[in-house]
Amino acid sequence: MKRRHFIKNASLTGVGLAVGKSLVSCTETNEKSPFKKTSDVLEKGSLPMVIATWHVIDATAKAMQVLQAGGNVLDAVEQGCRVEEANEKGQSVGKGGLPDRDGNVTLDACIMDKHGNCGAVVYLKDITHAVSVARKVMEDTPHVMLAGEGAKQFAISNGFVPEDLLTEASKEAWEKWKVEAKYKPIINIENHDTIGMLAIDENGDISGACTTSGLAYKMGGRVGDSPIIGSGLFVDNEIGACVATGLGEEVVKTVGSFLVVELMRQGKSPQEACEEAITRIVNKPKSDYKNFQVGYIAVNKQGETGSYAIHQWFSMTKFQNGVNEQIQSDYFNKV
Ligand code: ASP
Repeated sequence: MKRRHFIKNASLTGVGLAVGKSLVSCTETNEKSPFKKTSDVLEKGSLPMVIATWHVIDATAKAMQVLQAGGNVLDAVEQGCRVEEANEKGQSVGKGGLPDRDGNVTLDACIMDKHGNCGAVVYLKDITHAVSVARKVMEDTPHVMLAGEGAKQFAISNGFVPEDLLTEASKEAWEKWKVEAKYKPIINIENHDTIGMLAIDENGDISGACTTSGLAYKMGGRVGDSPIIGSGLFVDNEIGACVATGLGEEVVKTVGSFLVVELMRQGKSPQEACEEAITRIVNKPKSDYKNFQVGYIAVNKQGETGSYAIHQWFSMTKFQNGVNEQIQSDYFNKV
């Protein structure tokens, strides 16, 4: 099951109607899913290990390659995310990401290391590797976040080469969307495909990263959860880490990734913590959860993992014990 496909299958009214070909190409069915379920793979595993949101085996393979070559865990998550940022076919991250309503591709990303340091960029234009700019912000500035033109100029001054991120395919999808599009301040028609990656090296040290072009056809200037430390990503090297995907506004409102890590601190397994964080969203009074998706993946210090989403078709990729595989996530909305 590829990223985005859950939307078509989940029959979410009004969701995912206008996001191009990748949304309408789902072939697998829920009853016959070939993928393992999260509950089948909860055993304590050996280190190093890498997990990522969605089906991104090339990205997890790259991260594992870095770890096995003795590289550090921060390099691993950065390099892993860069694989998807460079992949023009992925229309949710980096080059080829779907644009906002005005046709601008704007990227959000963040990174967090084992010491609790972090860096982020928001509303970054024309630079493919947002995750690497986020790392530069963390390592080479006294700040944790740069936005917009300032982030772009900072990237250029650090040797990043500006390029047009709007590919023909994404431009075509946007033009198609414009034909029917009605301006809606409440964002509820887009797709959700952030790449979030968490890795643990053989010493048990953890790092994480998160990169996205955000909601397709979002309002100009909109920023979601993905670059917000504590919402889209949180790493606590004593406890574990979590990363989110889905409707960023809902993740921000519950400070989702921090919540998952804090629940693990209280003794919950990564799986239990992800489930509790999703439950907080769906149990909110008047929650409109039937019309949006949120998914979390998490890992604890021992290398145990969990993943959970509101709707079916969320998955994570896990590379551990020499096996790099997609694992179908359990989910809340079974009716
Ligand atoms: N979380 C991202 C955002 O809200 C979108 C996504 O995961 O697809 O910008």
